Amino acid sequence: MKSCPNCENIGWYIITNSRGEPEQEKCEFCYTEPDSVFNVVNDLNKTISQLQEENARLSKIYREELTELQNTHKELNTLKSAAGILGSVKSDRKAESSRANGRLGGRPKSK
Ligand SMILES: [Zn+2]
Repeated sequence: MKSCPNCENIGWYIITNSRGEPEQEKCEFCYTEPDSVFNVVNDLNKTISQLQEENARLSKIYREELTELQNTHKELNTLKSAAGILGSVKSDRKAESSRANGRLGGRPKSK
């Protein structure tokens, strides 16, 4: 990586124009030298924004998948409690038939 001999690695510097006024001049070294600090930093910033975009894209997908999972979880819980209600109905019925059986003298006795 090469630090710029002309500017503060920012891609421009101040010159005095023909009218004696200060003017911004584009720095050739910064732009044309592939290994200049300016270019390396710019490339890194590009990579960083690409990664941030990728991160945002993936976060969106994960959020959607998480919502789907949470919905599935809710459905499962609904099914579980429905199954629980059915289960208790079943055991009520069992208990009732067991009581009826008891009134009839219990299990049929084998000889
Ligand atoms: Zn420069």
